[in-house]
Amino acid sequence: MTCFDCPRFCKVDRSKERGFCGGKDKIVVAKVIENFKWEEPCISAEKGTLAIFFAGCNLRCSYCQNKQISHKCEGKEYSPEEFRAYLSSFDYSKYSALEFITPTHFSSLLCKVFEGFSVNTTVVWNSGGYENNQMIEKVSSFVDVFLPDFKYADATLAQKLSLAPNYFEVASQAIKTMIKCKPNIWQGQRLVQGVLIRHLVLPGQSQNSIQVLDALKNQLGAPLVSLMSQFVPIGKDFDRKILPLEYKIVLSHAQKIGLNDGYFQEMTSANDKFIPKF
Ligand code: SF4
Repeated sequence: MTCFDCPRFCKVDRSKERGFCGGKDKIVVAKVIENFKWEEPCISAEKGTLAIFFAGCNLRCSYCQNKQISHKCEGKEYSPEEFRAYLSSFDYSKYSALEFITPTHFSSLLCKVFEGFSVNTTVVWNSGGYENNQMIEKVSSFVDVFLPDFKYADATLAQKLSLAPNYFEVASQAIKTMIKCKPNIWQGQRLVQGVLIRHLVLPGQSQNSIQVLDALKNQLGAPLVSLMSQFVPIGKDFDRKILPLEYKIVLSHAQKIGLNDGYFQEMTSANDKFIPKF
């Protein structure tokens, strides 16, 4: 059957061939980290998540910090039944949440995993934001917290870095659907249902960031936002970190337009020790 898991609509039968994301008809896990504490405090909380890093990606950004696992779809393969059994093997009282990292291209398979099945914890969908509305509605039957990126407002930049010139339109719609499906619910300092939107500031691209922030404000009111400065140069398109002034300009704009609800990273986060070893 042709794959409709993401907006690329590759028109491939994944039981026979791979699409842009590299995914076949099995779930592929590249890495699992228990008690993963590198997410925002409302997600990681005290215990950290059970973080499952899927292999492959439907964006494959040229500067991806997880490039070793996102640009090739290799790892341990699971059928939906096998993955359900794997998820059942954990004691979820040990973690703040179950976190799926880069799950978009396995959406249909994950829907099968959660047919008549649930886990006794918050399920986090940590994605690139390049997703179908209809698929977001489907996965929201088992996802509690969406943690999408909102990377680009600039179509030329989106094409150059992620081969996705329609990223802005697609991600805007996907995030609107996430917010409709999952209004924010807090338990103390923890977000147990809702949407936290991430934006990574890129070197020399303050204007793109400002346009992204304006769109968040104009289209979504005042959503929960995480503004990140942690960019470390990887790949061919950038050869430096962001400058403190670049980040300051973007941060000041967020404050000026009233996007104050969320997280604003310190510049010290731009260090490769914050990239997990794969
Ligand atoms: S999930 Fe993969 S194969 Fe399916 S449409 Fe997207 S990129 Fe193509």
